[in-house]
Amino acid sequence: MVNRKTALVTGGSRGIGRAIVELLAAQGYRVMFTYLENRAGADEVVSAVISAGGLAQAVQADAAETGTAPTVVRAVIDAWGRLDVLVNNAGTHLPGVTIADTPVAEWDRIIRTNLYGPFHLVQAVLPHMREQGEGNIVNVSSNVTQRFPAGYGAYTVSKSALDTMTRILSKEEGPNGIRVNAVAPGPIRTDMLAEALDGLDSDKARAFTASVPLRRAGEPAEIAQAIAFLVSDAASYMTGQVVYVNGGGPGG
Ligand code: NAD
Repeated sequence: MVNRKTALVTGGSRGIGRAIVELLAAQGYRVMFTYLENRAGADEVVSAVISAGGLAQAVQADAAETGTAPTVVRAVIDAWGRLDVLVNNAGTHLPGVTIADTPVAEWDRIIRTNLYGPFHLVQAVLPHMREQGEGNIVNVSSNVTQRFPAGYGAYTVSKSALDTMTRILSKEEGPNGIRVNAVAPGPIRTDMLAEALDGLDSDKARAFTASVPLRRAGEPAEIAQAIAFLVSDAASYMTGQVVYVNGGGPGG
């Protein structure tokens, strides 16, 4: 059967977001994704999806900005008439800065992007999903919510709150046929990890990944697979879960 479902993915021009866009499109979803400023990267993702026989469109939107969510959701509805899946993937961080030293503007930027961004989109998609009587939301969290690393305060606070939002939403929206889950990645080979570890091949990176039971960083596609599972009918009885995809967890 042809998959006529639609998905909205934030931050799809690179890293984990790109892998999610490509996998969902390969599974037949029509995918709208947002990008912050990398228009060339976004165009490349659209071209790659179309060359592979899929369908994707990109829309510029800053997740940190109040007011963009209704416009983005409207773009999906105008294009395809329904919205089945929302993946809140866009995220940002400030590695290596203690809470005491975090400038207020940076704290604000991180919480706005990682927590308010998903909150605004959830509010914008719910009326459509409720009307459909079904829908799937996946929030991309992080396994820092189990590790509480020093120097990652704003980020960890934002992701812990995102997990809490996930669990509460699942209870509120379950009766409406909407499932809400989170995926919490461990270290995944992307620009974000490189920024956190002074490069993906640095000594710091080697020591960090050596502390992962599977002895390596993960690949973006490995996160995308977990998300594709959660939004599929194979996960039809799963909601309110935070699924750790982290090689067993770094740090010992
Ligand atoms: P990345 O930096 O490569 O990609 C992040 C994406 O989010 C980029 O496309 C970026 O443009 C977008 N983005 C950032 N701020 C935005 C904003 N204000 N509005 C719209 N888009 C914005 O990082 P990634 O590793 O691919 O991260 C994807 C998600 O996975 C993030 O939520 C991140 O917190 C989470 N995560 C990553 C890791 C890892 O090790 N890479 C681990 C745990 C969690």
